[in-house]
Amino acid sequence: MRSHYCGGISESNIDQEITLCGWVHKRRDHGGVIFLDLRDRDGVAQIVIDPDTPEAFKLAESVRSEFVLQIKGRVRRRPEGTENKDKATGFVEVLGTEIVILNSAATPPFPLDEYVDVGEEVRLRYRFMDLRRPEMLNKLRFRSKVTSYIRNFLDGQGFMDVETPILTRATPEGARDYLVPSRTHPGSFFALPQSPQLFKQLLMVSGVDRYYQVAKCFRDEDLRADRQPEFTQIDVECSFVDENTLMLIMEQMVREMFHDLLNIDFPVFPRMPYSEAMKRFGSDKPDLRIPLEFVDVDDLVADTEFKVFAGAANDPKGRVVALKVDGAAEKLSRKQIDDYTKFVGIYGAKGLAWIKVNNLEQGAEGLQSPIVKFLGGDVCLSIMSRLGAKNGDIVFFGADKATIVNEALGALRIKLGHDLDLFTCEWAPMWVVDFPMFEETSDGGLTAIHHPFTSPSCTPEELAANPSEALSIAYDMVLNGTELGGGSIRIHDPEMQKTVFRILGINDEEAQNKFGFLLDALKFGCPPHGGLAFGLDRLIMLMTGAKSIREVIAFPKTQSAMCVLTQAPGAVDEKQLKELHIRTRKSQSAD
Ligand code: ASP
Repeated sequence: MRSHYCGGISESNIDQEITLCGWVHKRRDHGGVIFLDLRDRDGVAQIVIDPDTPEAFKLAESVRSEFVLQIKGRVRRRPEGTENKDKATGFVEVLGTEIVILNSAATPPFPLDEYVDVGEEVRLRYRFMDLRRPEMLNKLRFRSKVTSYIRNFLDGQGFMDVETPILTRATPEGARDYLVPSRTHPGSFFALPQSPQLFKQLLMVSGVDRYYQVAKCFRDEDLRADRQPEFTQIDVECSFVDENTLMLIMEQMVREMFHDLLNIDFPVFPRMPYSEAMKRFGSDKPDLRIPLEFVDVDDLVADTEFKVFAGAANDPKGRVVALKVDGAAEKLSRKQIDDYTKFVGIYGAKGLAWIKVNNLEQGAEGLQSPIVKFLGGDVCLSIMSRLGAKNGDIVFFGADKATIVNEALGALRIKLGHDLDLFTCEWAPMWVVDFPMFEETSDGGLTAIHHPFTSPSCTPEELAANPSEALSIAYDMVLNGTELGGGSIRIHDPEMQKTVFRILGINDEEAQNKFGFLLDALKFGCPPHGGLAFGLDRLIMLMTGAKSIREVIAFPKTQSAMCVLTQAPGAVDEKQLKELHIRTRKSQSAD
C-alpha cells in the first residue's frame, strides 16, 4: 500500500512520486492550502494539498485527527525559510494529489499532536493510543533492538534458544504461584513458571550445553513500584563452566551491548562479596556511584549510657553504624533532617541521630547534636576520629536490628546521594558474589537466599553441620544500585540437593513428591552447570532512562496487578467454572 514510511523521506526523494500511509497527526488550513502532518511509526511527513486537485482537497478538508490515510504525491523541497532543521523530513514536503481515507477515527482520549501529561490509568486504558506517541514507540523499538542484540550475541557464543513450558508445576523462586485449574484432572492445578529454572537445568542434563530463552515469568507478589506479575527474563544456562567463565561471558555481553547500542563504555566490573556490600553499604545491590559508606561503631558505643545505641551494639542481631556526609552540615537544615527522620521511619527506624561537626578544635564542644550529652564527649570524638570527620561534615547514625539499620540507612544513603548530587560517575556496574546460602525466616527457620538449586561452596557434610554460615556460588550483576540479573552454579549431586532440601524442612518424601523429576535427572549423569537470568524490563528501563518498568512494557499491569485495558482479571461464567470443577466462595467472610 505504500512506497515509503512517512519518517523515511528526505532530500534524496525529491521529485519522486511516492505513496505514504499513516495517521493524521495534525491538519492546518492555510488560506487556500491544507497542510496535513501524516504520522507513522518512523515519523511525520508534511503533505500539502492545494485546490488544483479538487477531489483530494475536498477529502483533506473532511479528515480529522487520527484518521488513517493513504496519500500519493510528489516530494519537493520546502520553500526557503519554512524548513524544520530538527527533522530529516523537515527539508521536504509532499505535494499530495490523491487521498484515500482508509479509516476514520473517533476523537482521541488525549491529544497526540502535542505532548500532554496524561494520567497513567487513562494511558493504560487506551494503551493502543498511548503507544502511538513517539516516545513510547521508541522504547518498544529499543527493546526489540536489545532482545535481538542479545539473541545475536548468545547465538554467536553457541547458546541455543529453547522454549520451556508455561503450564507446569511450581518452581520455587520465593513468590506465590499463579495457578491454572485443570479441566481434565479435576482438583489439580498447573502453576505458571516463576522462572524456567528447573527446565533449563534439565536441558543441561539432556546435553543442550548452552541454553537461552527470552522467557515470560509469573510471580504473584505484593507489587512494589518496579515489579510486574508477569515479566520477561533473559534466561541463560551453561554446562561445564565455573562461575568465573559464566560471569565473564555475561559481562562481555552487557559491556558490548551498552557500547554498541548506547555508546557507553563500562570498566571491568568490580566483584564484591555480599558480606562486604552489606557492611559498607547495607545493601546487596549497592549503588557505587554514591561515595557514602557505613562505618561500624558498635564497639565504641556499647558501654555508653545511651540505651538506643548500647542496646543495639550489645544485641547479636543489632548494628550501630555511622554515615558521614562530607561538608553537608551547613547544607542540611533542621527541617531537612526532620524529613530524613520521617524517611528512615518508612524502613522501620525509630529515629535518626546526627552530629554536625562545627569545630573539631573545640573538642566535643564543637560538635552540635542532641546525642552528644548521652554518648559522652570522648565517645563522640572517638567516633569522629574513626570516621576521619572534618569541620563542616554531618554524621548520621543508625542503631537497631541490623536488618532495619541496613534498609533504613541504605535508603538514606541513596537519598542523600540524589538530594546532594553526590554522584561520582554515571554508570557503576558490579558483581556481588559469595552470597550466604540461607537466611533466617521470621519464624526462625531457614530459606534459600537465591533458590534451593544453588550450589553451596562447601561439602554436604559441612553444609549440614553449619547451614547458616554456608556461602553459595551465587552472583548478582548490579548496575547503579539495581539488580540487573542473578544466578548461580547449581547443585549437580543428588546428595547435596537432598541435604539442601532437608535443611529447608523438605523431607525426602516431600522432595521426591515435588522434585522427584529433578532428583532423578541428577542421578543420570548431570554435568556441572550454572547460569543466570537478567530482568529484561529493568534492563530496558535503565538503558532508556524510563521512570518505571511499565513504561517499557507494551501492555503492563497496574500496581494492583490488573490490566485496565482488557479488564483482567475478570469474572467467568458458571459453566466455565463447573467444567473446571471450581466453586467460588461468595465472600471472604464465608471462609
Ligand atoms: N531462576 C533464577 C531467577 O529467576 C535465575 C537463575 O538462577 O538463573 O532468579
